[in-house]
Amino acid sequence: MKNNAEHTAGKLIICPTPIGNLGDVTDRMRAALENAQVVCAEDTRVTGKLLAALGIKRPLERLDEAMMSSRAEGVVARVLAGEVITYCSDAGMPGISDPGLRLVRAARDAGANVEVLPGPVAAATAYVASGCTNQRFFFAGFFPRKDAERRAALESVRALDAALIYYESPNRLADALQVVASVFPYREMAVCRELTKLHEEVVRGTTQEVRDVFTARAAAEGIKGEIVLVIDGPSEAENAAAAEETAADAATRAAEMRAAGVSIKDIRKALMSEFGISRNEAYGLALGE
Ligand code: SAM
Repeated sequence: MKNNAEHTAGKLIICPTPIGNLGDVTDRMRAALENAQVVCAEDTRVTGKLLAALGIKRPLERLDEAMMSSRAEGVVARVLAGEVITYCSDAGMPGISDPGLRLVRAARDAGANVEVLPGPVAAATAYVASGCTNQRFFFAGFFPRKDAERRAALESVRALDAALIYYESPNRLADALQVVASVFPYREMAVCRELTKLHEEVVRGTTQEVRDVFTARAAAEGIKGEIVLVIDGPSEAENAAAAEETAADAATRAAEMRAAGVSIKDIRKALMSEFGISRNEAYGLALGE
């Protein structure tokens, strides 16, 4: 077992960066960049531009996801030997749909000192900006690219009493919203675009309304910018529709069993276990009420 008590002077600093607004650099981020012996970056050109904009000159080393398995341990060994190394992904918090988690894990496994600075995260910013009121959220990174996978992803979290958050690209947005509207016709959602930037936009409405806005825009002028989808948790209308569907399916099954001569008691038991409905409801349906 490893813990931070085994510190050397070295430190791995996970440093978030702005998601579109240079004003979101905090004093601690600036210090982490200025004081690092080396800044490791998902893309040295991207982080190099940030350092230049901040007037900071530090050596940069590339460390992207593909390099993690071969390089993370070496970086951690340098931290254990006393180096202060700051890690940045292209934008936002490293490790959130970006490289960083495997580096932290390697540091934890080795007992190296790790400091994670809080900072911009598109998912958290969108969740609050969206206008949803659900106290819980589920973030699953990028929305799948194929319709069947999109559907399966949404169905797998349908029962969660939580807002659903996905990253999406502008050229797939209209197709993605088509699937969201068809799987969740009773929900509201928001498309949060270009957060923290000059042309920030939040479009909120029913899933069909939001789909229609962006389908029309995709056809007219195209969709640009970075996007987060925030889908509200289940609505009362959705829960009522689901309960009605279950009751209709259970009634059909009960009728089939009655026709096959199954006893009322056995029908009731079968309906309770197959459809997860209450004893009373199952009894009524078993009688054909
Ligand atoms: N590490 C980042 C974070 O903490 O949010 C996420 C990196 S991920 C590779 C990039 C995706 O995040 C974009 O495709 C978009 O879905 C979302 N994103 C990043 N910046 C955004 C912004 N300013 N507005 C809306 N979405 C953004």
